[in-house]
Amino acid sequence: MNADGRWTVEVDRSVCVGNRMCVATAPEVFALVDGKARPRTERVAAGAELVDAYESCPVSAIVLRGETGEQIDPEA
Ligand code: SF4
Repeated sequence: MNADGRWTVEVDRSVCVGNRMCVATAPEVFALVDGKARPRTERVAAGAELVDAYESCPVSAIVLRGETGEQIDPEA
């Protein structure tokens, strides 16, 4: 797992079902807006809480990207 540096966080709102799991797990990173999650800030410090939020999403709507824009799968 690449746990260094900062990650870019995106939420695919066309997929999000608004169950708030990511908001409950990482409230400083995610907010619910109009019934769907949205990152509060695009660039965030990589860390376990963010990985937990990523893993908690039942529809894989959360996308994490590394410093160069590559998609990160913290479960890999
Ligand atoms: S955990 Fe996934 S489905 Fe639930 S609010 Fe967050 S992004 Fe949306």
